[in-house]
Amino acid sequence: MTDCGCDKAKAELEEFLHHELRAPDAADVAEHLANCVDCTHEHAVGVVLTAAVKRACSETAPEELRAEVLLKIRELRAAM
Ligand SMILES: [Zn+2]
Repeated sequence: MTDCGCDKAKAELEEFLHHELRAPDAADVAEHLANCVDCTHEHAVGVVLTAAVKRACSETAPEELRAEVLLKIRELRAAM
């Protein structure tokens, strides 16, 4: 692994997903994601899960949602 900032990116990924980072930090993470396949996959999984949790809180279709999320995660894993 090179000096690609993975540790920083992964540490801040959660906050990035929730748009809780300050703009300069968010820009750093976004830039890293653009250049790092590994972190991009992790981010993609996080996006799916975050969206699923949000929807699960506001909608009442947990079974369908769960199936959809599992399918997306499987697709992402297959693409790795
Ligand atoms: Zn990385």
